[in-house]
Amino acid sequence: MTPAKNAPRRLMRQLHEIMASADVAEERLNRVVHLVASNMVAEVCSAYFIRDSDVLELFATEGLKSEAVHITKLRVGEGLVGLVASAGTSLNLSDAQSHPKFAYRPETGEEIYKSLMAVPILRSGKVVGVLVVQNEASRHYSDEEEEALQTVAMVLAELVVSGDLLIAQDQKDGNMDRAIVSRFDGLVFAEGLAEGVAVMHEPKVEIIEHLSEDYALQQRNLDKGFNSLLAQIDEIMSAEDIIHHGEHREILDVYKLFARDKGWRSKIEDAIESGLTAEAAVEKIQIENRSKMMKTEDPYLRERLSDLDDLANRLIRHLMGKAGTAANKKLPDNAVVIARNMGPAELLDYDRDKLNAVILQEGSSTSHVAIVARALGIPMVGQVDTGILDVDEGAQIIVHGLDGEIYISPPPEILESYRDTIAARTKLLARYDDMRDKPVVTKDGVQIELVINGGLAMDIEGMHRTGASGVGLFRTEFQFMISKTLPRVHPQAEFYKSIIEAAGAKPVTFRTLDIGGDKEVSFLKRDHEVNPALGWRAIRIALDRPALLRYQLRALITAAAGTTLNVMFPMITDVNEFRFAKTILEKELDRHRKNSRPLPKEIKVGTMLEVPSLVWQLDELLPIADFISIGSNDLMQFFFASDRENPKLNQRYDTLSPPALNMLRFIVDKCSHHNVPLTLCGEIGGKSIGALALIAIGLRRLSVAPAAIGPVKMMIRSLDFSMIQPFVGELLSRSDSDIRGQLKSFAKDHNIRI
Ligand code: PEP
Ligand code: MG
Repeated sequence: MTPAKNAPRRLMRQLHEIMASADVAEERLNRVVHLVASNMVAEVCSAYFIRDSDVLELFATEGLKSEAVHITKLRVGEGLVGLVASAGTSLNLSDAQSHPKFAYRPETGEEIYKSLMAVPILRSGKVVGVLVVQNEASRHYSDEEEEALQTVAMVLAELVVSGDLLIAQDQKDGNMDRAIVSRFDGLVFAEGLAEGVAVMHEPKVEIIEHLSEDYALQQRNLDKGFNSLLAQIDEIMSAEDIIHHGEHREILDVYKLFARDKGWRSKIEDAIESGLTAEAAVEKIQIENRSKMMKTEDPYLRERLSDLDDLANRLIRHLMGKAGTAANKKLPDNAVVIARNMGPAELLDYDRDKLNAVILQEGSSTSHVAIVARALGIPMVGQVDTGILDVDEGAQIIVHGLDGEIYISPPPEILESYRDTIAARTKLLARYDDMRDKPVVTKDGVQIELVINGGLAMDIEGMHRTGASGVGLFRTEFQFMISKTLPRVHPQAEFYKSIIEAAGAKPVTFRTLDIGGDKEVSFLKRDHEVNPALGWRAIRIALDRPALLRYQLRALITAAAGTTLNVMFPMITDVNEFRFAKTILEKELDRHRKNSRPLPKEIKVGTMLEVPSLVWQLDELLPIADFISIGSNDLMQFFFASDRENPKLNQRYDTLSPPALNMLRFIVDKCSHHNVPLTLCGEIGGKSIGALALIAIGLRRLSVAPAAIGPVKMMIRSLDFSMIQPFVGELLSRSDSDIRGQLKSFAKDHNIRI
């Protein structure tokens, strides 16, 4: 299609004329497909658009039978056109019919066409249609042709933005009042219930003008856009950092580097030269990058490309005079912020008093932003269908951050029932606050200790707020997960010191790096593993790469100078691993002594108990351990051979069943025999009914999420231990007992608050 160098410009000029004409949308589309076919010397050019969320309908064609228009329909994912729509990337095939996805539609008469090139039509990064060219001869379309087709597809998105094309078709089909999707499901990233109005984190920017022949003006606009983008990044960087010790800063450094990247900029300039406006030129390069991003499997490269994607969005907003997120605008008092994704710093930019909940279309519960949301107590639901990004600003929303449901413009009955639930929960939370300074003791005087699980500086606030007596598990890997590079010893030590100081007199138990499995860190490349949960993770990595553990221990020793250091190791499977880890600690202590550095006043070294094999080594382990902490999340996943991340297995095996509780009781008995302090820090302890069973079998120290301290404490204070112990003891003697069910009834009968 590009025999002469200025062919794209000519194509752009003609495209411009068509798009700017007074013709109705349908006619403009017909003229565009005709133009593309003749320019590309293709026998066919067809445009499909998505209707009813997942049906691709043929809207215009040059070359296929005209009767097929509005008749030929394919589901997203069906046929080659559907494949392009679902993958969001182009296809370029010299023999389309031999492709396994080829779906023949007799009404089109396309059986004679051998080669095919198809590109997605994207609007704000979302596929809204597919543009296709076909030829009878088997041929390979060049990269330049693919690029040109992508540019045309981008311009065609204007027809969807303006609404002309689809609304006109809906009117013709008498299809004007299709039901609005009003309910979405997602995954709970941070628990809580909230009601409020929809606020888009990033104001929607639709590119209105794609084509311009005033190249000089567009280049000037681009210069201005880049300048204000760089100024904005500088401004964010000079603001006080939120995640102590600069992880966020490093991310922004990468952004800045990209923003100055000459290659990126010159590609945008070339696109302007071909006849695009500055914002459309940025979008064009963004589309190309996205398609590379989809194709790469390298997580590092993907992340870089996604940074670039983010940066391109920012630049487009600057070019269109809509820079900044909703955090910098006037927020309603009850905002429910909706975002494709966001970083932890962006979340912290919001006025917390006005932020009721956050909904992310992407994200994961281990993502940094989710970790921060939990620490701040802001309900967050993620991994929601893309349709959530099309919700109207100002729409009323209910976020049920306990089961992941979201209601948009809920009907009055649902609204009322949620309001009741929210009111009851608010009351309950106030009661937990009232209990803050009350002792954690059963009605008959059995003392229990409640400590928290944490991983961020903010969690210490949670510990003080809830009245917990310390940190039973500090997951140090969080700092590594939110860092792009390996944190060095000094910043690590500073961070641990700040945690110890913030905790005051209350003890903190640091767990050494528990990475691998589901916890990825960007600086450690790992091979693909078939079973990562059973793979190279936690202490296994640490013992194979002792430098990592040594530096971390050095930082911990430094941080705890003059005070007590409580440290434990994750995923110990064999008692020798514990011995080995202790030797590494000893070496670091020797190094400290030799260098006359101040040492901790006292050091307590323990281990997580997360692997069943260790249960059978307790007689060797306990004499050399200062304390044990049961990681029941992992212990149960290995005990039941049931992946803790698999939602299909969540409810399958009961952690309160006799086999599981008998194992835990065995551990309790062994620890008390060897007189070694025992804590349980897995999720079962954070549910009141779980805590009830655990206390009945003898546990006296539970480490739970800060939000669980209130409910568990309330249960404990309503409990008569002398009654529950024999009751559970009896149930445990029978292997078929429904302990959970029996405990629920018992709690009801005896007014135990579970
Ligand atoms: C556990 O496995 O129970 C535990 C507390 O560790 P994590 O959840 O961090 O794996
Ligand atoms: Mg674990």
